[in-house]
Amino acid sequence: MTDWHAKAAALQLDGRAFINGERIAAEQSFDKSSPIDGRLLGQVARCDAREAELAVQAARQAFNDRRWAGLPPAQRKRILIKFADLMLAHKEELALIETMDMGKPIRYSQAVDVNSAANCLRWYGEATDKVYDEIAPTPDNSLALITREPVGVVAAIVPWNYPMLMTSWKIAPALAAGNSVILKPSEKSPYSALRMAELAIEAGIPPGVLNVLPGYGHEIGQILGLHMDVDCLAFTGSTCVGKQIFSYAAQSNLKRVWTELGGKSANIVCADCPDLEQAVQSALGSMYFNQGESCNAPSRLFVERSIKDAFLARALELVPQYQVSDPLDEATVMGALVDAQQMRSVLGYIEAGRAEGAQLLAGGGQARSDSGGFYVEPTLFDGVRNDMKIAREEIFGPVLSLITFDDVADAVRQANDSSYGLQAAVWSGNLAKAHQIARALRAGTVHVNQYDDDDITVPFGGYKQSGNGRDKSLHAFDKYTELKTTWLHIGAALQGG
Ligand code: NAD
Repeated sequence: MTDWHAKAAALQLDGRAFINGERIAAEQSFDKSSPIDGRLLGQVARCDAREAELAVQAARQAFNDRRWAGLPPAQRKRILIKFADLMLAHKEELALIETMDMGKPIRYSQAVDVNSAANCLRWYGEATDKVYDEIAPTPDNSLALITREPVGVVAAIVPWNYPMLMTSWKIAPALAAGNSVILKPSEKSPYSALRMAELAIEAGIPPGVLNVLPGYGHEIGQILGLHMDVDCLAFTGSTCVGKQIFSYAAQSNLKRVWTELGGKSANIVCADCPDLEQAVQSALGSMYFNQGESCNAPSRLFVERSIKDAFLARALELVPQYQVSDPLDEATVMGALVDAQQMRSVLGYIEAGRAEGAQLLAGGGQARSDSGGFYVEPTLFDGVRNDMKIAREEIFGPVLSLITFDDVADAVRQANDSSYGLQAAVWSGNLAKAHQIARALRAGTVHVNQYDDDDITVPFGGYKQSGNGRDKSLHAFDKYTELKTTWLHIGAALQGG
């Protein structure tokens, strides 16, 4: 068995920026510590205008001379697949970086984050030489080719909750389409993307094609957003910052803007749920996974009154399974929140829930406070109303809110009564009814009788203020390509023959 504590003690992290295939020290840096125990991990480049210029120029040059887009698709495919293989070859190292940097349990960093990120790179690598363009149905005397071309220099700004995975969701389709990319990781989790950039070079991605600029959102993030030579900005993060991202485009060059934003997903369990045990396990498992720091966490749990007591009794039996523990222990399922600020914010929401009259049935407090890290117990509220703060705002922590309903149509109305529309679920043994509810739910993804199914082949994104555009699947190419129509005049058709 791996001694993760020994590995963590020996871990060497390089926080310098990655520009044009090289590590570059920025003029300023900031301290980065681990949410697990507060230990200092190192200094990270605080990128600013100078690094932005270097990276944009490198990316533009790489795009213009076609050192990447001009390679045969089969060659780009091989390189992206090698990139995926290298990630798997460095699985332990990457998983440890992720756990130390943002606090998630090491078992999931390995089994979910590294594996899914590598799978994403492999999948888009495979797609590189398998996606065809179109020919329009035009009259005989002309030919119209509809081709996809890379949009150019793509800036991608990502959050800290799945640093490696969100990086791969952006860079894999953008690179597969032939773009140059500048990735800005969150200041709270910069290290895995920087290491990925080194592996990309080792795999054969030419210098300048993938650059990584760590730093603060209001500094390097804003500079990239306003830059006149960035063609596309792909953002994942909060709805509040997402709105600023659109304004950057409006104030600069109308760069293409794509946003994957927050969520407050509804999970509706009807009295005719076919498997109550499964519904309870799923409600808790999906909510507490990643310490509740998931955009699609099913944080609003609607349960029909006639099964509510049975549901709740079983849920309270299961909550202790999600006990917070040492993230470097392979048995741990709940780790640390990303930092002290996030912990205070989550505890503040728990206080707001109590103050508004919701009943705290489990958790509610800080955990492992002697560790030096930032932990919150898995928390369950009953008696929540959809107009309470804890039901309206994204908490982004392990807090589940149970709302009881009597009428299914009213539950659907309440589920839709949210500024978000990322994901939802319905549990019913009546498939026609479940499907009608699924149709009525205003969300980018709706699950029926489960919450966990996921695959790189399906699009991911939201309705309403959960964003625009979709990550994953072939639809992600829409974000990173321009459609070009080329009309060829080919004259009259041959006669006879
Ligand atoms: P955040 O919006 O605070 O930050 C996201 C990124 O934007 C970070 O890299 C940050 O440095 C940068 N940023 C911050 N202010 C900026 C500014 N003024 N200009 C440019 N960039 C700026 O979000 P977060 O706290 O890192 O992440 C949590 C949020 O991300 C949650 O709302 C969650 O729902 C959302 N999220 C959504 C998805 C999805 O696919 N829909 C996936 C993961 C996370």
